[in-house]
Amino acid sequence: MVDSWPAFRNDHVVKMLADEGIDVDFITIPPRSTSLIQPLDVYGFRMWKAFLCYIMGLVVRQSPIPFVLGQRANIILPQSLIHNQFSAPHYQPMWQHGWVKSGSIERQDQEHFDTPSEYSFNRDDFRIPCSRPNCPKLHFMRCGWCRKVLCFFCFFPKHFCTHVG
Ligand SMILES: [Zn+2]
Ligand SMILES: [Zn+2]
Repeated sequence: MVDSWPAFRNDHVVKMLADEGIDVDFITIPPRSTSLIQPLDVYGFRMWKAFLCYIMGLVVRQSPIPFVLGQRANIILPQSLIHNQFSAPHYQPMWQHGWVKSGSIERQDQEHFDTPSEYSFNRDDFRIPCSRPNCPKLHFMRCGWCRKVLCFFCFFPKHFCTHVG
């Protein structure tokens, strides 16, 4: 499901990007209806942007980190970390909610989900020590995959996780 952005008009090219053997149904939503129909616009991108703002706010404030915001790799890196976090099974119901809320799919069995601010950045966790051995720092976030509490320095920029805790 894509919007009417000109690059998406060639569905032949987009279908070529799918894995071999995967049949893709291609739906173009009408112009100026993206915010009402597109699941990620209805619910999802706001969470992504909030997650990014939270991380980058600390990157800017944590001056010991040698991180130049303007470099292309450093623009992509936080996005990759967020993609990794939001790919965790914990966040699957959140993504499904966008599809339900936009009317694209029927209501799902698992209605309740914790948003990133309720789960990853829960203020009740702020005094919990980082779970990495011998790290003296405190909570920055809880990983959506391993469920471990991590300090900012143990999360950013290297905690690409796929271990379900
Ligand atoms: Zn993890
Ligand atoms: Zn740590």
